[in-house]
Amino acid sequence: MTFPPAPASSHPETIALHAGWRADATTGSVAVPIHQTTSFQFQDTAHAERLFGLAELGNIYTRIMNPTVDVLEQRMAALEGGVAALAVGSGQAATAFSVMNLCSAGDNIVSSTDLYGGSVNLFANTLKQFGIEVRFVDPADPQGFVAATDARTRCWYAETLPNPKLQVFPIAEVAALGRAIGVPLIMDNTAAPILCRPLDLGAAVVMHSTTKWIGGHGNSIGGVVVDGGNFDWAAHAERFPTLNTPDPSYHGAIWTVAAAPLGPIAYILRMRTCLLRDLGAPMAPFNAFLTLQGLESLPLRIERHCANAIRVAAYLANHAGIASVTHPSLQDGEARARADATLKGGYGSLMGFELKAGAEAGRRFIEALRLFYHVANIGDSRSLAIHPATTTHSQLTAEQQMASGVSPGYVRLSIGIEHIDDIIADLAQALDASVA
Ligand code: PLP
Repeated sequence: MTFPPAPASSHPETIALHAGWRADATTGSVAVPIHQTTSFQFQDTAHAERLFGLAELGNIYTRIMNPTVDVLEQRMAALEGGVAALAVGSGQAATAFSVMNLCSAGDNIVSSTDLYGGSVNLFANTLKQFGIEVRFVDPADPQGFVAATDARTRCWYAETLPNPKLQVFPIAEVAALGRAIGVPLIMDNTAAPILCRPLDLGAAVVMHSTTKWIGGHGNSIGGVVVDGGNFDWAAHAERFPTLNTPDPSYHGAIWTVAAAPLGPIAYILRMRTCLLRDLGAPMAPFNAFLTLQGLESLPLRIERHCANAIRVAAYLANHAGIASVTHPSLQDGEARARADATLKGGYGSLMGFELKAGAEAGRRFIEALRLFYHVANIGDSRSLAIHPATTTHSQLTAEQQMASGVSPGYVRLSIGIEHIDDIIADLAQALDASVA
């Protein structure tokens, strides 16, 4: 049986349900089947040879590709406006792969300081052990990226809506500066799916922790890297040796050449054929299935997340016991202008606040919550809360914590899709308890 794909759409609501899959060719199954297998039977030896030689793309072994994971990859590429994607076992793996795909020992990248704590650790410590230097610059000054760049700089890296400061990154400005000197911008768009498409603004690569809003139900760790197909790696051959020089691990393939017949996918093809092959970290088929279930309702959920978050931010900002609230809806000046220009349809569902009564009151507040979960996660359909200084950011130095905007009394909230009255009622009773 063959089932033609649904008509292509530019609307995320339709993409989230239809891109990359119509129905199973053998059974007609509409839901994406879970291909829980390690390996795939070859038709004959010639078929096997063609697959290994990349003369034909197809399933070999689930570490490298899998049909269930493939649907998620296609859907995420369509959602972000890219040409192809690679799903991996976690957002951390996606971040690591996105950079390592371009870097060898002795190379460097330039990154915004406003990053998830795990990315800071990976960049400042683990990549350093492998000889990759990460130069951190203040995202408020796009020119800082240029100033920190030299001939061994392979990419720039930043987050669209980094918590806890929640100041939108100047994607278009920085991407344009990078393109002028042949440096690609990689964006972590974890906190702003649907709201922002960094590839449309000039980024070359987008990654997500699908663990968060995309999966959305708090049940599967995962990550994805989307290749924008919009960066000419061959035009800057000296800057990207991993893509432009013969690869001894693949019969001397030059990835920009090998990928050409397949489309502008050299970056993501090399990530799959080399990094995923050698370092592992594939997304499990079952996790891809669960992530696809989440993705189907992502556009609707984002609407509710954002609507609830605006109401909560306004409530907190008017509360007598609260010193400050951080949410783009409450920003003004340049930060707000950038949020309005970059985020479409809402300001995201992360926010933070500082209690007037200080850090101890912050702890009491979290312990008094009854609806919100106290967890190290964001982007769940449920409302979540945490005290970053003692948890998610605790492995950073005090200096690194302050640089990323984590003060000792800061409480972070990820607003869910429950009824707004119940969310505010829980916050109200916990705030009362925190000052008692
Ligand atoms: N990027 C951002 C912005 C995150 O918040 C996280 C995790 O919290 C990650 C990357 C890492 O993702 P994962 O936990 O799926 O490895």
